[in-house]
Amino acid sequence: MKKRIVIKVGTHVINDEERLSISRFEKLVEFLALAMDKHEVILVSSGAVATGFSKIKLDKKIISDKQALAAIGQPYLMQYYNEFLQKYGKIGAQILLVYDDFDSRKRTKAARDAVNTLLKNGVLPIINENDSTAVEEIVFGDNDQLSAHVTHFFDADLLVILSDIDGYYSADPKEDKNAKLILHVDKIEKSELCKNINAGSEFSTGGIVTKLKAADFLLKNKRSMFLTSGFDLNDAKNFILENRHSGGTLFMPKGKFK
Ligand code: ADP
Repeated sequence: MKKRIVIKVGTHVINDEERLSISRFEKLVEFLALAMDKHEVILVSSGAVATGFSKIKLDKKIISDKQALAAIGQPYLMQYYNEFLQKYGKIGAQILLVYDDFDSRKRTKAARDAVNTLLKNGVLPIINENDSTAVEEIVFGDNDQLSAHVTHFFDADLLVILSDIDGYYSADPKEDKNAKLILHVDKIEKSELCKNINAGSEFSTGGIVTKLKAADFLLKNKRSMFLTSGFDLNDAKNFILENRHSGGTLFMPKGKFK
C-alpha cells in the first residue's frame, strides 16, 4: 500500500569533515528515487551549514556566520539534489519552514497544500528550517523536531531518520561495547528525554535525545518513526521498499499495525 513517508537526513550522513560525500549522497538519492516509485516521499535535509562551509570558511561558532553559511550552502545543496535526482527523471523542490508556520493554522495549511501539490505531481519536496530567521534551530535544535512536525502536520504515516547510528541502543554504543540495539519501542520514558548527551560532531546538532523527543511527539500523536543508518542504507531499503524489518529501531504506538 502506498504510504506518505518523511525521510530526514542528518548532516553527518551527507557530509564528510568539510564537504559533501559524493558516494553517500549518490546512494541516498538512489534510495529516495526508489522510495518515490513506491510511496509519497517528503525529504527533510540538513547539511546547509556544512555545505556553506565547504565554499567559504566563516566561523561556525558565531550565530550570524552560521546563518550566513546556511544561506550560502542551501542553494548549493538543492542544486546537488536536483543534479542527482535528474538521473532518475525526478525533480526536487525547496520548502523552507520555521516553527511559527506550525503555530498558524493558515500557514500550516498553505504549506500542506503546496506539499500536496508537489507530491501529486511526482516532485520531491525538500524541506529545511529557514535558518536565517530561525535562530533557535542553530542554537538548540536540529531537524529531528522539524521532521516530526512535518510528519504530523502534513499527515505522513512514518518518519524515517537516517542517522550516523543504525538505531536506538540500550546505551551509547560509542561508550558502551555491550549496548544492545532495540528493535521496537512503543513508549519513551521521561527520564530518557532529559539526558544531556552531546551530538556526534561539530556539524551535528541533534544527538539521540532530539531523536527520542521526535519519537515521543509522534508516538503521542499515534504516528511511527524508524531510526536507521544513513551510511549503510540496507535496513532502510528493506523496511521502506520491502516492508521487512532487518535492523533499525521502529518506534510504533501500541496497537498500530504497519
Ligand atoms: P545525526 O547527525 O545523524 O542527527 P547525531 O550524531 O546528532 O545524529 O546523534 C546520534 C549519536 O547519538 C550517535 O552517533 C551516538 O553516539 C549517540 N547516542 C547516545 N546515546 C545513544 C543511544 N542510546 N542509542 C544510539 N545512539 C546514541
